[in-house]
Amino acid sequence: PRTRRWLFADQLGPHFLDAPRQPVLLVESVDVFRRGRFHRRKAHLVLSALRHRAAELGDQAVLVRARTYREGLAECGEPVSVCDPTSYAARRLVRRLDDVEVLASRGFVVSEGQFAHWAGRRGGKRLLMEDFYRDVRRHHGLLMDGDKPLGGSWNYDHDNRQGPPKERTALDVREPWWPTEDEIDEEVRADLDRWEREEGVEFTGADGPRRFAVTRREALSGLRRFLTDRLEQFGVYEDAMMAQDPWMSHSLLSVPMNLGLLDPVEVARRAQEHGREHDVRLASVEGFVRQVVGWRSYTWHLYWHLGEDYKQRNALDARTELPRWFADLDADAVTANCLHHVLAGVRDEGWAHHIPRLMVLGNWGLQRGYHPADLADWFWRNFVDGYDWVMTTNVVGMSQHADHGVLATKPYASGGAYIDRMSDFCGGCRYDPKVRVGEDACPFTAGYWNFLAGHREQLEGNRRMTQALRGLDRLRDLDGVLHQESERGSAPP
Ligand code: FAD
Ligand code: SF4
Repeated sequence: PRTRRWLFADQLGPHFLDAPRQPVLLVESVDVFRRGRFHRRKAHLVLSALRHRAAELGDQAVLVRARTYREGLAECGEPVSVCDPTSYAARRLVRRLDDVEVLASRGFVVSEGQFAHWAGRRGGKRLLMEDFYRDVRRHHGLLMDGDKPLGGSWNYDHDNRQGPPKERTALDVREPWWPTEDEIDEEVRADLDRWEREEGVEFTGADGPRRFAVTRREALSGLRRFLTDRLEQFGVYEDAMMAQDPWMSHSLLSVPMNLGLLDPVEVARRAQEHGREHDVRLASVEGFVRQVVGWRSYTWHLYWHLGEDYKQRNALDARTELPRWFADLDADAVTANCLHHVLAGVRDEGWAHHIPRLMVLGNWGLQRGYHPADLADWFWRNFVDGYDWVMTTNVVGMSQHADHGVLATKPYASGGAYIDRMSDFCGGCRYDPKVRVGEDACPFTAGYWNFLAGHREQLEGNRRMTQALRGLDRLRDLDGVLHQESERGSAPP
């Protein structure tokens, strides 16, 4: 018989086993939830996924409830093997434990060895996502026509990314697939209530019906619904935001993918096949495949490539502590319509799509100088799909520019004009995106100019910022903006 396979809670798909009947160890550790507050929905999803997997495997699996992983392994009492886990801390842990054989990681489009080889061949040149993505497409034969990209272009971004449709409050698209909760979910809910009541465990956010897939079967249902009813519009509105429709045409698959229930290449292949058979708009299929095998995998490999210290980078010297209202997801304290809605989504669902994360929450944190590692920690704890590997690069690099341009060539800072163009938030807002100073001043617009003024020296060498800095020089009311922003402090906008 094969060695028992220890599965972490983000290694729950069939590809983490060597054979369908391999014995399994699952460890549920309560201590994880004692180390600072996590979103209640996130705790629910992880525990539900773990317990569903145990139920599915029946006698084949041992589910140990223990305070720590070490105690869980001791209780199991057998040697185990484990696929290399997904964070630096977990990798250190598995290497310190006795009787644990550590295997190569699984579940990403290329292995860590293949990525290292790819990066080595670039000879110190920038590791661009676009180059990586094209090589992954060639390697797996995804959306290819011989050795050329399908349709003649690698990238259809120019056909995507429109603002929200006018005169509608929600996209004209079928709802996402929603799970039906079962007795395992009820049991998880009762346990979480008890931990809160009796064991002093504290959570953030609100409880509510489970929204994301936690089993392989559910994940495939979610994927199917996305492909048949939602993929067509994915690309067009990928970057748009609507106050009454947070889900828009997004796939909601980051949770099952990050739990290891779906393999990204499998997801991309199914999208490709569905697109071909049903003549789906190529720009949408390509846009989705780019996210899944491009951005997601690139993020994973950079997490390891850039090293553990990367998370502490703070190139813009941002030192502001996260204010209480932000840390507590107190959306009701916020007047600014965009931030109010997005923060309420985090409070109620532990989720927002990519653009609210980057251009509302991230942009806000960047403008106000929130400490990048603290902000990454906040995202990690409060988002249902948050894991160290995916949060670090997305928050520290992409959204906070704390790596001085390793991931993104310029900071994703923008004023209210961007939010106004890409959303329907501003129409219902008490502020005006065009106004910089005074009672009606949009806090994102004022914050943008304040950010540029405060970081002029660091940004001056960046050619992509030249135009923005010229704009700053032309401002006549800059003193007013700076005064207003310093008055605002860390109060909710
Ligand atoms: P869709 O819009 O349907 O996209 C399809 C899939 O592409 C996603 O499920 C996801 O797996 C993948 N993807 C797309 N962009 C990225 C990216 N930049 N990095 C990694 N995967 C990507 N994603 C996470 O999975 N976990 C996180 O903790 C996370 N934190 C983020 C923090 C910030 C500040 C930003 C800007 C982005 C973050 N993302 C994170 C990426 C992205 O926003 C989410 O993956 C996506 O919004 C999840 O919703 P969805 O499944 O409907 O995605
Ligand atoms: Fe957000 Fe400013 Fe628009 Fe209000 S006016 S919704 S604060 S961008």
